[in-house]
Amino acid sequence: MKRALIVIDYTVDFVVGKLPCGESAVAIEARIAELTEAFALAGDEVVMAVDLHHEQDPYHPESALFPPHNIEGTAGRELYGKLNDVYDRHKDRIYWMDKTRYSAFCGTDLELRLRARGITDIHLVGVCTDICVLHTAVDAYNKGFRQTIHVDAVASFNAAGHEWALSHFKETLGVNVTGLGVTEK
Ligand code: ZN
Repeated sequence: MKRALIVIDYTVDFVVGKLPCGESAVAIEARIAELTEAFALAGDEVVMAVDLHHEQDPYHPESALFPPHNIEGTAGRELYGKLNDVYDRHKDRIYWMDKTRYSAFCGTDLELRLRARGITDIHLVGVCTDICVLHTAVDAYNKGFRQTIHVDAVASFNAAGHEWALSHFKETLGVNVTGLGVTEK
């Protein structure tokens, strides 16, 4: 079994910036950093999937839905807190992947990359549980990947949405929802 960790949108804008999840996202800072470092040190594939937008893009569907966020070249698009330190330390082992839609699979080379490496199991962490993590999990389900989602490393600005998504992962997508560490296999 080869596995990959996909870290979704844990940037300054999504934690405390332009489109913040707030407290619930700050609370998972240490756990996200810990999991990312553990996967990187274990030699597992680690993908930093990071939302990318351009200033006043009239063609992007999110322009009508959300305030501007994660704009290219801004501080808001940097990884938040301890995750940024982990990324700096292990840059050579972590794949930075820009994405422009909710799902990390949409318009990216993620699937090709995982298939090329024989990866069958993916672990998801990041924000928001009920938007980008959810859409990524749905795509991964349709593509036949086995999935684990770490409850102590996902968060949302919407508590009800967060809870609903966790049950959807488990009951409908067959995801292994766990709060356990990466040493648990
Ligand atoms: Zn966005």
